[in-house]
Amino acid sequence: MDDLLLRGGSICDGTGAEPRRADLAVRDGRIRAIAPSLPVDAKETIDAGGLTLMPGIVDSHTHFDAQVTWDPYVRPSPALGVTTAVIGNCGFTIAPCRPADRERTMRNLTQVEGMSFDVLQRGVRWEFETFGEYLAQLRRQGSAVNLVAYAGHSSIRTWVMGADANRRAATPDEIAQMAAVVREAMAAGAVGLASSTSPAHNGDGGLPMPSRLADDAEHLALIEAMASGGRGVYMQTKGAETRVALLEEMAARSGRPVMIAALLHNGTNPGAVFADLDAISAGNARGRTLIGQVSCCPLTMEFTLASPYPVEGLASWRAALGKQGAELEAVLADPQFRQRVRDELAAPSAFRLFNGEWDKVQVVEVAQPSHRDLEQRCLAEIAHRQGKDPLDVMLDLALDEDLTTVFTAQLLNSDEDAVAKLLTHPHSLVSLSDAGAHLTFFNDAGFGLHLLGHWSRERGVMPLGEAVRRLTGQPAAIFGLRDRGLLREGAAADLLLFDPATVGRAPTRRVFDLPGGAPRLHTDALGVHGVWVNGRRVADANGLVDGAPLAGTLITDFVA
Ligand SMILES: [Zn+2]
Repeated sequence: MDDLLLRGGSICDGTGAEPRRADLAVRDGRIRAIAPSLPVDAKETIDAGGLTLMPGIVDSHTHFDAQVTWDPYVRPSPALGVTTAVIGNCGFTIAPCRPADRERTMRNLTQVEGMSFDVLQRGVRWEFETFGEYLAQLRRQGSAVNLVAYAGHSSIRTWVMGADANRRAATPDEIAQMAAVVREAMAAGAVGLASSTSPAHNGDGGLPMPSRLADDAEHLALIEAMASGGRGVYMQTKGAETRVALLEEMAARSGRPVMIAALLHNGTNPGAVFADLDAISAGNARGRTLIGQVSCCPLTMEFTLASPYPVEGLASWRAALGKQGAELEAVLADPQFRQRVRDELAAPSAFRLFNGEWDKVQVVEVAQPSHRDLEQRCLAEIAHRQGKDPLDVMLDLALDEDLTTVFTAQLLNSDEDAVAKLLTHPHSLVSLSDAGAHLTFFNDAGFGLHLLGHWSRERGVMPLGEAVRRLTGQPAAIFGLRDRGLLREGAAADLLLFDPATVGRAPTRRVFDLPGGAPRLHTDALGVHGVWVNGRRVADANGLVDGAPLAGTLITDFVA
């Protein structure tokens, strides 16, 4: 007898083929049969008439490394159709880590991934030092979705160099030690190695995240260490100064796929992302595997001036980084500081999160009733009305409210025609949810549902079968996930059942369920009827099911 029979649904199998009507039977966590009509002989039968069944979504860019240790449900991803999450992106892992480096690691994450230090301190369960011990902890505690883990450059650098990791280049001996740790992590089951050279990535006290201080020799040595076992995916979130040519050289020297992030469209420098994609195409034409991570979501961030992620990558903001309270307020009030920020914003840049588009920065929530009329208004408009400069408006308002005023900035990827081109590019991967990070700034964990609903159904940018392939079969093949990402007999029963007429993501809302009752932004699914991981149901139309099983596996065995 089968465990589950889904009858009469449209099956979108993840190959890019258009949906076809069929029954699907699950037994022992795997798909036993797919056929136009299967006999009704299962412990549970679900009428999937009018609904579409697809493989579960593979979220290739998450930061659940810390959260998963206190929340094995990796909320909110399972309810949003994700059945496999790749962690460790950008190299911002929490393993390996010695006890003496725990506080440094958490403070770095607080700065770079917008995670609350208090939440991390209360939440993270440190039952490991090495990467292998971390994986063993994940295996022991289980998780609601399948997990795939990168080894992280910044953690490995800290492991070898301690406090110097964010301060200087490595010696040849230190590079050799890091390479040994990378080989160990690959042997323990890492999917590859992740790194960052992005100037937006600053750690504790405003210092660069460790991997940013690596020279080309270090990057090349580590990717070669990764590839020494004949497998592995290298991912890098690159700064504007990192040329795709260098990443192509890494792909050539290692013979491994290189995943390049974060390719977002910037309205003030609209050609940059397409130039990167052209270089990626040229590399592929020369026989390398280069993949550009793109996003199907406009990058909108909520922030306060106490921790203004969107502007923290500006060189001129350095003076304010790592400061708090009165010290920070003094910097923000300084007219010279403000002028330097204005000057920097006026100069063109290849990649920058915030580009002085004040019409796209809104006041969301004020603290003082007398400021209420400013809510839901953009800074350009307020500045015009008050006859002031928009930066002054933002900083003066924030200073007047002890830096508690909540703003939202539409930063990147808001030009839909341009984003459509990114999504349909032959060498792009729809990604960049950043799930598990930036919990109070934005939440794109529902990116897959947004691709299906907004981009495929509403905008017609790609047929449903192709949208499904880009969320499932394509990433599963890049990472070498065995028997996942496709609906076929014998494959793991990672399934998403949804209504194609309504699928999408609801607006984000604030919930207070982090350790210590801290807030995060939450997104509900629209049109999702069920999510199964290895044949076990983790979510239904109401979200995560009560007592959902920790049905996921830690995947450490990959197709090379
Ligand atoms: Zn990231």
